[in-house]
Amino acid sequence: MERHKLDLATEYCNGILRNYPMWPSTFGPCRDMCGNSGRGSGLCADCSEKELAKVVGYSLANEYHLSIQNTTRLWREIYDKLDE
Ligand SMILES: [Zn+2]
Repeated sequence: MERHKLDLATEYCNGILRNYPMWPSTFGPCRDMCGNSGRGSGLCADCSEKELAKVVGYSLANEYHLSIQNTTRLWREIYDKLDE
């Protein structure tokens, strides 16, 4: 496995994850000026996915992004459930 690609994949996977915080966080214009917001004005989730796709292909990158969205939604539901 090429080390450089592993580093890039890790960076962009973390970039996606970073944009789905469990708690309120600060968002600003995406670093790539795509029109979306990114956490801390870093890369937004969509741009992180696009960069990840350049390393691992669209299908895997998109599936990873959807999985993070789904996991975050479930965690919020779990917290809401515990808060009832
Ligand atoms: Zn962006």
